[in-house]
Amino acid sequence: MPFTLPSLPFENEALAPFISAETLAFHHAKHHQAYVTNLNKLLEGKPEADKPLEEIILTHEGPVFNNAAQVWNHTFYWLGLKPACPLPGGGLAAAIARDFGGFDGLKQELSAAATTQFGSGWAWLVSDGNKLSVMKTANADLPMKHGLSALFTIDVWEHAYYIDYRNDRAQYVTKILDNLINWEFISRNFANASA
Ligand code: MN
Repeated sequence: MPFTLPSLPFENEALAPFISAETLAFHHAKHHQAYVTNLNKLLEGKPEADKPLEEIILTHEGPVFNNAAQVWNHTFYWLGLKPACPLPGGGLAAAIARDFGGFDGLKQELSAAATTQFGSGWAWLVSDGNKLSVMKTANADLPMKHGLSALFTIDVWEHAYYIDYRNDRAQYVTKILDNLINWEFISRNFANASA
């Protein structure tokens, strides 16, 4: 079975004005779709074509890895975005206080990672099962390749923000951190990573 493009978990207009419908339409239907299409072409007729996406990511390098990881990264990025999501409590809030000194400290670390990633890549909140940390990766690279569980990500490829913010990556990152973090998604990922 070839891989298919998952639907966005919201309408194209849902994240405006922070991420426009035009950006979402291009980013999902063109960029994310292209990674799915390229991956299917690369795997056509090969036994790996029927393997789970995560297994393909963990066992390949080069073009297959790049396209498979970008399919996974984008699906994960969409799920992490939601407008007006209240801050979490419980174990996640306690872990953020322990490892970042609170929500502001976490946002500062994510902002620094996202704005200092040179060229294309991703900023991540991750867990090693005990401790939370922030990391950045280049191009398609992702936490699972380093034995870490992803809780949240920000796409800092130029195609993620150029329509709305031109070259101002910092403004795009600030708008996401202040308005679009899906804490429910992070809480579920935190629970899974801590189990
Ligand atoms: Mn992207």
